[in-house]
Amino acid sequence: MSTEVRVRIAPSPTGDPHVGTAYIALFNYVFAKKQGGKFILRIEDTDRARSTLESEEAILRALKWVGLGWDEGPDIGGAYGPYRQSERSAIYQEHAQLLVESGAAYPCFCAEARLEALRAAQRAEKKPPGYDGLCRRLDRGEARSKVAAKEKHVLRLAMPKEGETKVQDGLRGELVFQNATIDDQVLLKSDGFPTYHLANVVDDHLMKISHVVRAEEWISSTPKHVQLYQAFGWQAPEFFHMPLLRNADKSKISKRKNPVSLDYYQDSGFLPEALVNFLGLMGFSFGGDREKFTLAEMIETFDWQKVSLGGPVFDLEKLSWLNGLYLRELSTAQVIERLRNWRLSDEMLARMVPLVHERMRRLDEFIPQVDFFLRGDLAYGSALTDAIPKERDAAATAKVLVDLADELDNVRSWNPQTLEPVVRAFSEKIGWKTKELFMPVRIAITGVSASPPLFDTMNVIGKELVRRRLRQSAQLLR
Ligand code: GLU
Repeated sequence: MSTEVRVRIAPSPTGDPHVGTAYIALFNYVFAKKQGGKFILRIEDTDRARSTLESEEAILRALKWVGLGWDEGPDIGGAYGPYRQSERSAIYQEHAQLLVESGAAYPCFCAEARLEALRAAQRAEKKPPGYDGLCRRLDRGEARSKVAAKEKHVLRLAMPKEGETKVQDGLRGELVFQNATIDDQVLLKSDGFPTYHLANVVDDHLMKISHVVRAEEWISSTPKHVQLYQAFGWQAPEFFHMPLLRNADKSKISKRKNPVSLDYYQDSGFLPEALVNFLGLMGFSFGGDREKFTLAEMIETFDWQKVSLGGPVFDLEKLSWLNGLYLRELSTAQVIERLRNWRLSDEMLARMVPLVHERMRRLDEFIPQVDFFLRGDLAYGSALTDAIPKERDAAATAKVLVDLADELDNVRSWNPQTLEPVVRAFSEKIGWKTKELFMPVRIAITGVSASPPLFDTMNVIGKELVRRRLRQSAQLLR
């Protein structure tokens, strides 16, 4: 019996919309379309401390820009909602309870201090970390009365301690895990919120997900998921773990070495269709040595056999080359439209003009003064080294620029009023006078020493390009 293909992406809204999310979304989307199935967007916001609505909105916006629309999701609903895990707590609690009743899960009353001491002892003995099963051995009646007395507890999965768990991976074949190496995972936290493992399995089942296509970093979670499916008596979906995107040095793609936010690609003038083609190339070979193909062509020819596992290197130069091919295919009218949708818009003019108005004598002075608002990466000549403060050196300045970029990662609403206190507090924290800090920052983000007020300038350049330029400058100074 063939069931409907239903796939999903399940991003956690804890930061900028990540290029890896678009990459995984693409393979899910293409597979769903090829099979006449459904592509679902689910928001995994179980990490209450780190999840934000801003991040969720940014992810949805960025995926729409990339052009990978979903059939069901938190914004449009669907038959298996809600599609935001924070709205499904009762569902997870009920399901966790079923596992306690069947003996597949148990309450654990161990205090954090005990677990910490346990971990320290395991570290000292060079043993792998893991729960020692103290509460698993509790008498069930006693455990029940402790729960009834509202003693603080979590629920843990009672992992079988012998034997092995087999995972079938559509790209890798059979993966075998020794059960003794798998921890008694926490399923429900003491605040009643589920962990990723429980919520993910319950939702994939209830949302009738047929194939789980996700990044290879989740492989080690999969045996736990397979055990959970068994404990519930459910059929597990098929698993496909995609190779991770990598930096040129083969490490997992990271913001230090590559821009990872989708907003960066939009702000730097990449075309979404070129980015999609490029992300497709990262895991899929179209056939022969053909590198340029559209989303529709990828769907038409898609087959898991054509997906390879080699660690694909994310190469910005190559993406720019591919982008050029797409750009040159557009008509003049289309290019004008793209430029308008990018930064040559009335809206952008309205933001730039007030910043340079006072310093213009003639209209022709406008473009040179706003040049850095309309560029991606900047050329600095000797300006960066000239901006190193007197008592500091290039390495220290480089570090400061990177650290500031990291600090700015956490700024949620980007405007002059939010930026100023962050940058001033940063200068205090590192013990640099604002005078020392502002010049290298100004040069890094504009390339010139005379520019409009710093925070207004950062505001209009935007979060992505500011952070990219700070990191690029640091690279150049090293
Ligand atoms: N919430 C996980 C993530 O952020 C989902 C992993 C999965 O697809 O199972 O990527």
